[in-house]
Amino acid sequence: MTSKTGSFAKRLYLPRALGSAVGFWAVAAVLYTLPTPAWIWGLLAFQGFVWPHLAFLLARRSAIPYIVERRNLLVESAFGGLWVAAMHFNLLPTTLLISMLCMNSIAVGGPLLLRLSLASLTTAVLAFTGLLNPGFAPETTPLQVYACIPMLAVYPLAVGGAAYHLSAKLAAHKRAFREHSRTDMQTGLLNQSAWRSILDEEYELAKRGLARSAVALIDLDHFKAINDGYGHLAGDAVIKLFSEVLAKVKGPTDTAGRIGGDEFGLIIRGSNIQQIRATLARLQQRLQQTFSERLDVPAVSLSIGFAEFSVHDDSAENWLRAADLALYEAKGQGRNQIAAAYA
Ligand code: GH3
Ligand code: MG
Repeated sequence: MTSKTGSFAKRLYLPRALGSAVGFWAVAAVLYTLPTPAWIWGLLAFQGFVWPHLAFLLARRSAIPYIVERRNLLVESAFGGLWVAAMHFNLLPTTLLISMLCMNSIAVGGPLLLRLSLASLTTAVLAFTGLLNPGFAPETTPLQVYACIPMLAVYPLAVGGAAYHLSAKLAAHKRAFREHSRTDMQTGLLNQSAWRSILDEEYELAKRGLARSAVALIDLDHFKAINDGYGHLAGDAVIKLFSEVLAKVKGPTDTAGRIGGDEFGLIIRGSNIQQIRATLARLQQRLQQTFSERLDVPAVSLSIGFAEFSVHDDSAENWLRAADLALYEAKGQGRNQIAAAYA
């Protein structure tokens, strides 16, 4: 059993153990007023106090606990049918049992399991009505009402708690999945599409005058030479190192992403042109320093093109293109340069 498959059985265990125990009293309070055969008492005690543990063990031992749990619920529905007949259709505990069974079935297996459970319950009611030939006594005495209160009060809470636990877990999975789909796994930075969609948002802010923004494109110089001379793994280490430096040097409101192999993007928020140049120059210097401390390959330099948002940029695409042209210029000027668009 893996912990994942086991956790499903575990989630059902506590509500089931609690529900069966409180259900015992709701049914017992009726059976005790009727001529109930010993074997029915035996089965009631079994379901109340033994069955939940057995059901858990069966599910836990299975490779697919979900299938076993569905079968367990159908068994419980059949038990429910027995209690309904044995209680001579006493109205409150009957309604309570049926609604709790339905709640379980729909929570675990949706409408299909609900239909199957109702079929199992109905079949059992008919079969045990034939076998026991019970009377019809729907009235519920005050004592029997009291005996139902623990089930009414406690069981929905337990099921609600389990459902909350499950939905919190699902929400966390969803967040992790979204995070995963936005992240470049090699560097931990945003991937191209996530970074690009943040650029679109930044463009909208800048266009409305709500943010002062610039976009920079950064490309490692002669990176192929590292791959060719020192191997692909050394190249990977360089990419990783640069990503770490970029994440450290950028401002807290700046957004870094990996756009392609050795090309990175940085959205810079709230800086004037001197500050932008200073940040980018710091990036170049810091990379040189860190290289000599951490890697045994010759340091690579950076070519950077950046574009402050301009009212002439009529789309995020064009804004980015301006930075790309500036990068091209930086490469053309011999690399290891910072070039501004519209300069
Ligand atoms: P330039 O100065 O003109 O940018 O020259 P360059 O050698 O850096 O050329 P270019 O940017 O065109 O090439 C980037 C190379 O980076 C091509 C590709 O094989 C390599 N590359 C891309 N992604 C990775 C990666 O994740 N790891 C490694 N080791 N290499 C990569
Ligand atoms: Mg390059």
